[in-house]
Amino acid sequence: MTKNLALSRELASDPLFEIANHGTKHCPLSVTGRAAYGIAGTASPLEAWREVRDNHDFLHHELGVTPRFFRSGTAHYDDIGVEIAKLAGEQVAGFSVNGDQGARASRVSVRTAISQARAGDIILAHMNQPTGQTARGLADALPGILDGGTRFTTLGAAL
Ligand SMILES: [Zn+2]
Repeated sequence: MTKNLALSRELASDPLFEIANHGTKHCPLSVTGRAAYGIAGTASPLEAWREVRDNHDFLHHELGVTPRFFRSGTAHYDDIGVEIAKLAGEQVAGFSVNGDQGARASRVSVRTAISQARAGDIILAHMNQPTGQTARGLADALPGILDGGTRFTTLGAAL
């Protein structure tokens, strides 16, 4: 977002999007440095706090958004990290459908995964990897999903 601030502000002003917090350094939220997928987690309560709160403050000051939800990089947390996120003013969020396997999935795999989503699911997919197949797979899946009556909403509107 720091590299694409104008676009980030445009997204933040679009009611179809809800800007949430994905961390300052995009790492597992931990107080012990516990790693996930080879990525080291935050290693202390202070680091965990800064992982949540520094980006919270950035989003507030630069986009005018007060994020309600936090999902760490890798979506891994320890129990204390979850409590720290709450103290920082955010509810930890997860996902129920892995739509693109970290933007590494093929177009067909993305379409298949997203097409299997059901009411109430939260789809994890990446819009920040332009060389990935996520956008194409999503475009393939959407007509069938919408024809089936499914509608999309933001997490904040759903809760
Ligand atoms: Zn991420």
